[in-house]
Amino acid sequence: MIPGPFEYYRPGSVDEALALLARHGEDGRVIAGGHSLVPMMKLRLAAPEHLIDLRNLAELRGIREAEGSLEIGAMTTQHEIIESELLQALCPILREAAVLIADPQVRYCGTLGGNVANGDPGNDMPAVMQCLGAGYLVRNASRQREIPARGFYEGAYFTALGEDEILTAVRIPCPPEGQGQAYEKLKRKVGDYATAAAAVVLSLDGGTCSQAAVALTNVGQTPIFAEAAARALVGTSLDEAAVAEAVRLAKEAADPVEDLRGPAEFKRHVAGVMVQRAVARAHARAGA
Ligand SMILES: Cc1cc2nc3c(=O)[nH]c(=O)nc-3n(C[C@H](O)[C@H](O)[C@H](O)COP(=O)(O)OP(=O)(O)OC[C@H]3O[C@@H](n4cnc5c(N)ncnc54)[C@H](O)[C@@H]3O)c2cc1C
Repeated sequence: MIPGPFEYYRPGSVDEALALLARHGEDGRVIAGGHSLVPMMKLRLAAPEHLIDLRNLAELRGIREAEGSLEIGAMTTQHEIIESELLQALCPILREAAVLIADPQVRYCGTLGGNVANGDPGNDMPAVMQCLGAGYLVRNASRQREIPARGFYEGAYFTALGEDEILTAVRIPCPPEGQGQAYEKLKRKVGDYATAAAAVVLSLDGGTCSQAAVALTNVGQTPIFAEAAARALVGTSLDEAAVAEAVRLAKEAADPVEDLRGPAEFKRHVAGVMVQRAVARAHARAGA
């Protein structure tokens, strides 16, 4: 329950943080809100020898709209996402998912960057980012690149982020006007991770679904972008048969394992129910 020994650094710029990361290689690790990393260090599941705290880096904070995109700094807290009127107006699924994360104490400290970079399949934001077609802006000492959220997750706690890279911001294309969005999550109690959750975004054109995306949380080693499920919705009026087919395909894409939240088949069933509810709510909101 006590972390191993480590050196602690609080750099004053991203460049300084990147230089520290480059110097310490696989022994270095950045810390943001600490609400995933510190519990892992206490359990000795993580034992970084050099801990690089990003909290003083103002360049990693803030929520902006520019050139058809929303850009959210990696150190923006979940609480700040909930409070943002800009995000509520342009991309309400972010608030909807953020209020379902843990409890207020965690959300005051936990950051968007930590949530998406962590690679924990139980984290809620990755599936939302996949649905929204988000990109992760990352930097090392010599270059910057953008990694699509849909290609970022490789396995539980394995991502496309290099060990010398820092996630600086998340970029989300501004959702088209009238897009319906919903995040549905079943959890056992406040403060728990999802038994299963689903993010859905969709657009209508004269009553026909013209665009859809579906992604699942905590029913596999990574967030699951359920492409086939979304395809089953496009071109339909979102009638009962189309939604039932999307639910079937989403359940097929899920790959849960048994744990304290229940047996695999139960979780797969819950994932289907979450998709059904999220499609219904996104449908009701589309065009509003
Ligand atoms: C009781 C409890 C319940 C929780 N329930 C939920 C829940 O229901 N849903 C949910 O989504 N989350 C949940 N969380 C996790 C919480 O949301 C975390 O705060 C979040 O996942 C990680 O964000 P952080 O800022 O705390 O990151 P940290 O813990 O500081 O870091 C997490 C990992 O990401 C890396 N990292 C952080 N920032 C960056 C960056 N900018 N660039 C590169 N790597 C980075 C770190 O090196 C570390 O490996 C819960 C946490 C607790 C303690």
